Amino acid sequence: MSEMLQEMQRLEPFRREVREWLVHNLPDDWRERMLGADEEAGVAFQKWWFRKLMEPGYAAPHWPKEWGGGGLSFAEQIVLYEEIARVGAPRLILYFVALHHVLGTLLHWGTDEQRKRHFPAVLSGDEIWCQGFSEPGAGSDLASLRCRAERRGDHYVVNGQKTWSSNAHLARYCLLLARTDPDAPKTKGISYFILDLQTPGITLRPIKQMTGASHFNEIFLDDVVIPAKNLVGPENGGWQVAQATLSSERGLSVLELAERMREGFKLLLADAQRSRASGKVPYEDDEIRRQLVNVHIRIDALRLLVNDQLSAVLRGGAVGVEPSIIKLYYSELLREFTQLGVEIGGIDAQYLQAVLMGGANETGYWMQDFLYSWAWTISGGSSEIQRNIIAERGLKLPREPLTA
Ligand SMILES: Cc1cc2nc3c(=O)[nH]c(=O)nc-3n(C[C@H](O)[C@H](O)[C@H](O)COP(=O)(O)OP(=O)(O)OC[C@H]3O[C@@H](n4cnc5c(N)ncnc54)[C@H](O)[C@@H]3O)c2cc1C
Repeated sequence: MSEMLQEMQRLEPFRREVREWLVHNLPDDWRERMLGADEEAGVAFQKWWFRKLMEPGYAAPHWPKEWGGGGLSFAEQIVLYEEIARVGAPRLILYFVALHHVLGTLLHWGTDEQRKRHFPAVLSGDEIWCQGFSEPGAGSDLASLRCRAERRGDHYVVNGQKTWSSNAHLARYCLLLARTDPDAPKTKGISYFILDLQTPGITLRPIKQMTGASHFNEIFLDDVVIPAKNLVGPENGGWQVAQATLSSERGLSVLELAERMREGFKLLLADAQRSRASGKVPYEDDEIRRQLVNVHIRIDALRLLVNDQLSAVLRGGAVGVEPSIIKLYYSELLREFTQLGVEIGGIDAQYLQAVLMGGANETGYWMQDFLYSWAWTISGGSSEIQRNIIAERGLKLPREPLTA
């Protein structure tokens, strides 16, 4: 029996505890209430769910106990996320940056004062955070960023522009990268700051997505003052700090998403077998059945990939290019999956509920979730960048094309 399986069996009592807690605390009608709800209602619901999940420590299972988190082991977190996904409970999407990036960054690079100021506020559910890394012209090539921070005594003055900042309009704080030494080599002149978004000189402009919603924003910074105590890590050492932020994204989120997809497939299958007003049943179409089989196999393959990766981490193995492989595989599969939902739903896909809805970014409608699925192939490093990483670091292929 694999070590992973043994560990999971040992955790059966914990699994039952989580299952029971979810039965008693997740409102049965949350999907109906949230389907098509406006942003204000969505945010209020996220805050309520965050605080509810905090009661047994499930909102921040990976946070150390000394800082008020759940302090769960890695294996316990796997069980927790599996159970949350199994019942399709809402994902704490609004708190993603606060729970993962802020923790991963400040735990290693923050000062004690920064941790004391922000950790309790994050865990109270009051503080939403956003990430201000990307700029026009600096996304994949983040090190080219141009937003400028100049030191003036006990503070910095910042000027520049950020873009694609998810939920900045709802956030109080932003993790900001700015250039403090324009003469140094690209990665050597960047510093990392905590920016209070209520500081004068900040203008937010929402970006309209093709789904019609506006989850991200441009941020314009015009002579914005940041106290020097908000610098994270050394001045000009921000690139290294940013690596801590980016690697904290690679948590267990894909495990949860893979589980949700498995549950979603059951809904899709049931829908394909439903007779339409025309008398047609999509499932009777050979091509639809072929695509269903394909997606089903790929969902299983994704779960195997994720389990393999988790087993390696549980054994204390090093993390290689696997997160890139999983990210690439998941995002492309999500696109195929939601596209199939649209195809099977036909015109009804505009309003047919998809089970993927677990957070603010998914609407619960196949069509909108298909449109949004494209975002996954870009955010957190585009598919092309993941392929580059796999080719160069995993397969050791040369950077330049081979010549005959
Ligand atoms: C849903 C979503 C949420 C986001 N949230 C945030 C956020 O909160 N904060 C934040 O700072 N940023 C955020 N981003 C921005 C995200 O990090 C960038 O979009 C991403 O890094 C790509 O950068 P870019 O948009 O500038 O595209 P570019 O880097 O300009 O890329 C354009 C195209 O060229 C390709 N390309 C670029 N370089 C290479 C290369 N070397 N080899 C092969 N192909 C290449 C890319 O794959 C892409 O197809 C978010 C993006 C999305 C989609």
